[in-house]
Amino acid sequence: MPTYRFREIKHQASKSLPCPACGKKLRRQRTFSQTLNPFNKNKDGQVKTELEIVRELVVVASKWEAEPEPHPACQKAVAS
Ligand SMILES: [Zn+2]
Repeated sequence: MPTYRFREIKHQASKSLPCPACGKKLRRQRTFSQTLNPFNKNKDGQVKTELEIVRELVVVASKWEAEPEPHPACQKAVAS
């Protein structure tokens, strides 16, 4: 059986937003990815194209980029 290697489409995102707890800026970097493969289909049941995947990744990444996150230590302080 042949081995299929599916290409991974990646989108790197980064944000620098003030922590909601202490107000100091928190920098985060994250890579969003999806694999281009015959099982990765869109709502219409068609295999997603590279462009569709890139668009989806950009949407998810921009939501993440707009969301402020507390520092791990500040999160503990807020939770307790
Ligand atoms: Zn903080």
